[in-house]
Amino acid sequence: MQELAQEIQRRKTKEVFVGKVGVGSAHPISIQSMTFSKTHDVKATLAQIDRLYYAGADIVRVSVPHKEDALALDKICASSPLSVVADIHFHHKLALIAAQSVDCIRINPGNIGSHARIKEVVNACKARNIPIRIGVNGGSLEKKIENKYGLSPRAMCESAMYHIKLLEDLDFTDIKVSLKTSDALMTTRAYEMLAQMMPYPLHLGVTEAGTTFGASIKSSAALGALLMQGIGDTMRVSITGELEEEIRVAKELLRALGIRKTGVNLISCPTCARLESDLVSAIKEVENLTKDITKPLDIAVMGCVVNALGEAKHADLAIAFGKNEGMIIKKGVLISKEKEQNLIARFKQELEKLL
Ligand code: SF4
Repeated sequence: MQELAQEIQRRKTKEVFVGKVGVGSAHPISIQSMTFSKTHDVKATLAQIDRLYYAGADIVRVSVPHKEDALALDKICASSPLSVVADIHFHHKLALIAAQSVDCIRINPGNIGSHARIKEVVNACKARNIPIRIGVNGGSLEKKIENKYGLSPRAMCESAMYHIKLLEDLDFTDIKVSLKTSDALMTTRAYEMLAQMMPYPLHLGVTEAGTTFGASIKSSAALGALLMQGIGDTMRVSITGELEEEIRVAKELLRALGIRKTGVNLISCPTCARLESDLVSAIKEVENLTKDITKPLDIAVMGCVVNALGEAKHADLAIAFGKNEGMIIKKGVLISKEKEQNLIARFKQELEKLL
């Protein structure tokens, strides 16, 4: 049997730049999220952008439903540590204002009216050298396409190709595309199909995915399947919940696939009858101690010594609990035996040495 390739081969895609963030196969897969403040409330929006920045996001999208929101973008972009995408539906005038300051516009050209309007928006983006993200959503397909194919991967792709052609006809190719539905399988199939049809980078996401538990599973299933095929250049894990959760899950998914090599890979045993300690609390403590580390490290927390030396031997640092005591293991070598109450403190000392 042919040995499986260890590294995921990315699908070759065109390069676009969202501010300083390169998007395309020549660049790392970037992580995005969205603010939910009223965009015209500059202070609140910047506070949310800061939270996303510190959580590790690369790009932020803000909704621009009204003129006052578009007019606030200037100030937001001037202070944002992240590249900013303006999310606009239908209103070409809002797109024209936004294009003066943001790093990318998310708009579907087929939805903004006349050819002259599309041209105006395209010219505004060309003038500042910013890309357009076409965002096809299963809930708002063009009627003609939906009547022909129903809600299906084919319909999503037809819609995307329709919008792409409108831009290409105006000699505009700084394009990235998303194809979102709330159905993991349909979303996966749609991206797979579109990846065969055009060269532009893909923004991956499952929309309206739910709360942290369900959304993480749904997004991991769909995005994981795509990323393993090398499909996807930027991504959002949509979660109804805290802003930081989206970034945390996205980072963990990329880390699980070996795509992002930064940060801590936490290995913990599932526990069994051999467990003699409060492992769940210990893992929470370790997780908390390691959550902001950017150096790539494998850290293991094991419930007993039976499997610790074997299963954690590749970890940079491991704790193995026993009855009222435990061991600290570094790269498979036992370096210290401690009373249970001292284990975390000793672990912390060794962790600091590694950093
Ligand atoms: Fe059970 Fe020990 Fe394995 Fe944890 S490490 S699952 S406690 S045998």
